Amino acid sequence: MNSHSAGAIGSTSGTDAKWSVAFYVSDTPHTGRGLFTGRCYRSGALVFRVTGAEYEWASRTEADACSNPNFYGIRKDVWLDPDPPYGFVNHSCDPNLGVRGEREFVALRDISPGDELTVDYAITTDEVHWAMECRCAAPNCRGLIRSVQFLPPEVFARYLPYVNPYFQEVFQQDRPALSTPHESGSQQQTSYGTRHSNGLGDAG
Ligand SMILES: [Zn+2]
Repeated sequence: MNSHSAGAIGSTSGTDAKWSVAFYVSDTPHTGRGLFTGRCYRSGALVFRVTGAEYEWASRTEADACSNPNFYGIRKDVWLDPDPPYGFVNHSCDPNLGVRGEREFVALRDISPGDELTVDYAITTDEVHWAMECRCAAPNCRGLIRSVQFLPPEVFARYLPYVNPYFQEVFQQDRPALSTPHESGSQQQTSYGTRHSNGLGDAG
């Protein structure tokens, strides 16, 4: 069954019974802690709508790009700082969530109780200075995760329509200029990596 109940959170909050039942934070095999669900969701169902404050921020350097590891992009130079527990959603190269609009995370496939909830971080940023070494252990792991412009077209297509429309636009407009046919992220040497795959907002 599932062994994640020890890490359950939210049961004492008393303020939002909906997510206290549906979501809990627990350890993951490869990525530290993550957000799990105790419920079933059909493919295409809304799993949650992220709450959190918006910030305007335009990165100019690699250090800039990695300085707010908890945030994810919603519009050009506008970032969302997710409230708990949404910041615990890990990246996966084989995710079960996509993004509808700016804040709604939708099931890409059927989700069962005990499943970790994951999203491909590449569809949450157009920050070309950003990169993250991936430890998701999915068979199709890309190794190095970069912004939406660097996603292989077939991977991007698999997430549609659940990609924020702004990032769909960026992918269509910017990808040809940035990507090359033989790009291999895992072979690139990088000084990035301060944003780990243990959660959008997992500061611990
Ligand atoms: Zn991966």
